[in-house]
Amino acid sequence: VKKIAVLTSGGDAPGMNAALRAVVRTANYYNIECYGVREGYNGLIHDDFLKMDPRSVKNIINQGGTILKSARSMEFKTKEGRQKAYNNCIKHGVDAIVCIGGDGTFTGAKIFNEEFGIKVIGVPGTIDNDIFGTDNTIGYDTALNTAMEAIDKIRDTATSHNRVFFIEVMGRDAGFIALNSGLATGALDILIPERKDSIDELFANFRNAERTGKSSSIVVVAEGEKLANIYELAEKTQQEFPDYDIRVAILGHIQRGGSPSCADRVLASRLGYGAVIGLMEGQTNVMAGMRSNDLVYTPIEEAIKKHNEINKEILLISEILAI
Ligand code: ATP
Repeated sequence: VKKIAVLTSGGDAPGMNAALRAVVRTANYYNIECYGVREGYNGLIHDDFLKMDPRSVKNIINQGGTILKSARSMEFKTKEGRQKAYNNCIKHGVDAIVCIGGDGTFTGAKIFNEEFGIKVIGVPGTIDNDIFGTDNTIGYDTALNTAMEAIDKIRDTATSHNRVFFIEVMGRDAGFIALNSGLATGALDILIPERKDSIDELFANFRNAERTGKSSSIVVVAEGEKLANIYELAEKTQQEFPDYDIRVAILGHIQRGGSPSCADRVLASRLGYGAVIGLMEGQTNVMAGMRSNDLVYTPIEEAIKKHNEINKEILLISEILAI
C-alpha cells in the first residue's frame, strides 16, 4: 500500500482520536501517505479528504469524540453513492481505507470492498462492545467508567433518601456496560438482554433486600433489555411495593463523551498501528482486534455476524455479591 485513507463512522466513541493518531503516525513512519476523510462515508462521497501528517494529529490522544467527525451516511448505502466514493478514492490514488466504527461501518466497508476491490480494514470503535474478534472495543472502557461514576453519584443521593433507583445505561442490544457497571457499583439487580429476566425475580431481590436491611437499592438496566422498558419496570415495582420511593435515571449521551481512559488510549494505539501493519502485510476485509492481549485479524463478516458472549461468571458473581 502506498496511500491510505482513514475515517470514523457511526456512533462516536472515546478513543477514536487516539486510533486516528496511531493510524496516521504509523503510516507516516512507514512512508505511506495518509488522508483523513471527514464525516465518515459522506466524506468519501463528497470528496472531503485532507492530507494528514504526524503533526495533524497532535494533542488529540486525550480528546473524546472524533476530530474527523462521524456521520451516518444514507448515500453510502446506495450503489451510486459508493460509486462516487470509489471515484474519489481513485482520484486521490488511495488504495486502502481504515474504517473506525461499529458493525454498520464494517458492513459498509465489506460491501465497498466486494464491489470495487479496494482494500479495507476495520478498527472497532464503539462504546457498546458488541463486536466479535476483540475482547474490548475502543470506547467501551471509558463509557464503563463514566457509567460507574454516574451510578456512584446517584447511589449517594439514593442512600440519603432511602430511594430505589432504576438506572438505564447504553449498549444498544448488548448488556456489557450494564453488567460490568452494575457489578462495579454493587447493584441490587442487573437487567440485560442476553439473559431472560423475570419481574418475579426482581421483586424477590427487593424483598430479600428488605429482609437484610438495605436502605437503598440500585437496579441497572441495559437499554436493550427485553423484559420491559425502564418506566414500565419502575411502575410495576411501585405497584408491588407502594411504600418505595422510586426514581428513574437514564444516563444517556454522557456515556459517549469525555477523555478516553488509559486502557482505551492504549487499545486504540495498538489497533490503529495494527490496522496499518495489517494492510502492509496484505490483509484486507478484516478487522484488527485485541484478544488475550494479542493483535489478531478477524474477517469482517465474522466480526459483524458473531457476538461476544456475556461472561456468565460475572453475572453469577454480581448475584452472589448483591445479597
Ligand atoms: P455504532 O454501533 O457505534 O452506532 P455503527 O458503525 O454500527 O456504529 P451505523 O450507523 O450502523 O453505526 O453505520 C455507520 C454507517 O455505515 C452508516 O451510516 C452507513 O453509511 C454505513 N453502512 C451501514 N450499513 C450499511 C450497508 N448495509 N451498506 C452500506 N453502508 C452501510
